[in-house]
Amino acid sequence: MKTVKDYIRTIVDFPHEGIMFRDVTTLFADPRGFRMAIDQMLHPFAGQEIDKVVGLEARGFILGGAIAHQLSTGFVPIRKKGKLPGPVISEEYQLEYGEAVVELHDDAISAGEKILVVDDLLATGGTAAAGIRLIERLGGEIVGCSFIIDLPALGGRKKLEAMGMGVETLCE
Ligand code: IMP
Repeated sequence: MKTVKDYIRTIVDFPHEGIMFRDVTTLFADPRGFRMAIDQMLHPFAGQEIDKVVGLEARGFILGGAIAHQLSTGFVPIRKKGKLPGPVISEEYQLEYGEAVVELHDDAISAGEKILVVDDLLATGGTAAAGIRLIERLGGEIVGCSFIIDLPALGGRKKLEAMGMGVETLCE
């Protein structure tokens, strides 16, 4: 039987030369693959109290929407700078070259709400760490962080665990 990893393809030299891009659109496009990924991401959190699922732009929206629907929770997006229409809080993080900013509506999470963070892939952990800082600034309590793919050589899991996070991934 095919595993989640079997549905993911690698695109060489995207978005630039030397990058091996792990492409989950082939996983999302397959009815069995997509359900398997969502079910496996949900599994470690069965029976836990979760108020909201937060998805990181952009593939975290697709995963987060399906997970929130399954859990009957709300869904909240964390977006790149300038995309959210209402008042926001912002966090900067380092990219290989330069910086990026992620934003969260300042009323999207209430203090004490239990939050599950989701995205497709964990690399350096910079994006997720910035998202976690945003959620914590609003008083959200993060139950865990769930990703399909971990790239362990880039240290993201260690970075998030050092912030006190529980990290769940489906494959490397
Ligand atoms: P990090 O901030 O270095 O952990 O990078 C993770 C972010 O970059 C996530 O939002 C991913 O969606 C995106 N990303 C980085 N590399 C890839 C890849 O190979 N495939 C899909 N997304 C990637």
